[in-house]
Amino acid sequence: MSRSIVPDLAQHEVWFLTGSQHLYGPETLAQVASQSQEVARGLDAAVPASVVWKPVLTGRDEIRRVMLEANADDRVIGVVAWMHTFSPAKMWIAGLDALQKPLLHLHTQANAALPWGEIDFDFMNLNQAAHGDREFAYIETRLGVPRTTVVGHVSDPAVGERASAWVRAAAARAATRSMRLARFGDNMRFVAVTEGDKTEAEHVFGVQVNTWGVTELAAAVDAVGASAIDALVAEYADRYDVAADLLPGGARAESLRYGAAVEAGLRTLLEDGGFSAFTTNFEDLGALRQLPGLAVQRLQADGYGFGAEGDWKTAVLVRAAAVMGAGLPGGASLMEDYTYHLVPGEELILGAHMLEVAPSLTTARPRLDAHPLGIGGKEDPVRLVFTADPGRALVVALSDLRERFRLVANAVERVPLPAPMPKLPVGHAVWRPLPDFRTSTTAWLTAGAAHHTVMSTQTSLDMWRDFARMSGVELLTIDESTTIDGFERDLRANAAYYRLAQPL
Ligand code: MN
Repeated sequence: MSRSIVPDLAQHEVWFLTGSQHLYGPETLAQVASQSQEVARGLDAAVPASVVWKPVLTGRDEIRRVMLEANADDRVIGVVAWMHTFSPAKMWIAGLDALQKPLLHLHTQANAALPWGEIDFDFMNLNQAAHGDREFAYIETRLGVPRTTVVGHVSDPAVGERASAWVRAAAARAATRSMRLARFGDNMRFVAVTEGDKTEAEHVFGVQVNTWGVTELAAAVDAVGASAIDALVAEYADRYDVAADLLPGGARAESLRYGAAVEAGLRTLLEDGGFSAFTTNFEDLGALRQLPGLAVQRLQADGYGFGAEGDWKTAVLVRAAAVMGAGLPGGASLMEDYTYHLVPGEELILGAHMLEVAPSLTTARPRLDAHPLGIGGKEDPVRLVFTADPGRALVVALSDLRERFRLVANAVERVPLPAPMPKLPVGHAVWRPLPDFRTSTTAWLTAGAAHHTVMSTQTSLDMWRDFARMSGVELLTIDESTTIDGFERDLRANAAYYRLAQPL
């Protein structure tokens, strides 16, 4: 049966830290405490994680202590800091130095409107984030602390939306920090862009990438019992339009039963090993009788990361996107830029893969069928066939540039099929990349971005900006505002910046 590993973001904590100082006296500090609790409650209502208010901070040692506690607590995915009053920033140096989790600087104020006729100097002393946060931002900048700054009253939907993007990125950061990825087989022969430095990936993203024998997977598949297979076949018949000859009693029923065994065996192996992502390689299937298609499609829809042909970097992205998008409509899937509609003025990209596009990209009922693969020399694999829904999405790729990782994200508009494609038996999507085909693909190729991507219908560029900043990796974006001139300037500036920023 399908079992989701998408986290419940409400189980994640974000600690709300309020800065002040002793100078104001106990009465003002009590007001700071009650008002900051109210702001924290407002933020809690606006973001998907649980915002936990912490007592007002007025000294260096307690600030350092709370940061160390945040580091040590696995429930905590990040901290929010707000200087309600003036909090001399030298008090924050040791704490910010110690902090290892993502930081959101919330630049806000307890009141939205100023009570003009009532303002006295007590009011001014109580409500001075306008300069208290500037003092704090100075020390963040001086120390080089990566953070996301969110500005506005907490009741403003734009504040909640931006803070939510940061929360989702922080959840993805927490997920990759503890991620285990199983590679079944190595990189496909001779392919360059799917290679990468796995040691560096563990340092940068936190993900453990290790190889597991495909023989172990084949043995797990062979060990699946008949009743588990029966249950899956019944679930398939319930959820998909299954080709009649694949159903019990049909001429090719054994193909679907074997596909179900692949799903059950693979899922058990991943669950037992604590893996949240995996890769396969069609050149290295050992005793597996089919290239895993249906199983891979369904596991992605349950929140697993996946990359084909040994592409573990894309598997990390698919998992990160699934966590960022938790609870939102749509999904995350391996995608590949496959072929173009290149009629001038009508350019479109047809994306697909051999089998493995996730059904979370459609709200329609997929067809389940088996077809020959054409390459690989194995039995006809079972797979879900569908067209991705129209609408906005992102495609994101990860390249290893030798001295750093580079993320490239392109906003795209998925379109309805211009004409039916009755002879293409795989899950697929058709899209127009922004700002236009020529600019997008020129930028993509200039950046050396990969042909494998995650297609995500749940995430925003802000989420990826925050995720890249939290992970300390480069991100190039291609969207409505991209020009080739500006993109090339970014590439040159980044080349200098990231090389100068290298440690010894
Ligand atoms: Mn591929």
